[in-house]
Amino acid sequence: MVWTAEEKTAYQKEYRQANKVHIAYRKKEYYDKHREQILEKKSDWGKIKIGCECGCYVRRDYLSKHMKSVKHSKNVPN
Ligand SMILES: [Zn+2]
Repeated sequence: MVWTAEEKTAYQKEYRQANKVHIAYRKKEYYDKHREQILEKKSDWGKIKIGCECGCYVRRDYLSKHMKSVKHSKNVPN
């Protein structure tokens, strides 16, 4: 069977489209399977406290807010 260029292009397009759905499905499947681990990891990341340069210990997910806080700017002269 010999394909014309158009047929080839059409096939490749179709293949990519099919693959796209497949990949998205695999991703979703992975998420569904590991949902709890993923969420746990995420919340753990937020719970971990890290030392700031101003001497405070703040939660990671709060750090960006803390950087703009009065408490932080008082201790760290700009
Ligand atoms: Zn700070």
